[in-house]
Amino acid sequence: MRCSVCGEAEFKSRDILWDRLINEWQLTQAETVYVNRQQGETCVTCGANLRSVALADAIRAARGTGELLGNFALSPEGRDVSILEINEAGSLSPRLRLFPKYLFGAYPEVDMHAIPYPDATFDLVIHSDTLEHVENPVHALQECRRVLKPGGALCFTVPIIVGRMTRNRAGLPPSYHGNPETSTDDLTVKHEFGADAWTYVMEAGFTSLAMHSVEYPCAIAFRATK
Ligand SMILES: [Zn+2]
Repeated sequence: MRCSVCGEAEFKSRDILWDRLINEWQLTQAETVYVNRQQGETCVTCGANLRSVALADAIRAARGTGELLGNFALSPEGRDVSILEINEAGSLSPRLRLFPKYLFGAYPEVDMHAIPYPDATFDLVIHSDTLEHVENPVHALQECRRVLKPGGALCFTVPIIVGRMTRNRAGLPPSYHGNPETSTDDLTVKHEFGADAWTYVMEAGFTSLAMHSVEYPCAIAFRATK
């Protein structure tokens, strides 16, 4: 396994999940292991975790480049790519900021339900582990599609438990990503995505979808083309 951000091959691991979240999410031991890997197994050199590596693969494929993401930003091809990053895409964020035509937006100023940009503005829209926190994922993905230029791509990750279907947590006890003592409402989990996660993307109007995985079933990134 090589890091698609910096090219190095040494990774280190730490567990991220805590007992309360594992219980709310009803994860098996095997599922706990792969969610911990996608979040907590990181490149020793650049700090990218496995989901960021998968997301970087999706971004590179969207632009058809063989360059590492860290080099692509400053390449002649990278200079012209207009990017909207919604909420910080973890350890990829510092690399994305290197692109000259880069915009960052975070909730609540940039709410995925009403993205404050005109139609067909960006070549790439990128978010990472945000979709599970929005009220209406299909509408949010429609908004991402709307602000993409024709031929542009939405690249994103969301935690996916591949052995079950998506569950809406409405009516269930609140579950948070982040510290439950200090979590705000935007860290509330609204949906726990499963094997049908891809259907949300197609319902949002995309006609083409690819998946990038690092060490399947952990760390799955979607690349949806407009
Ligand atoms: Zn790296």
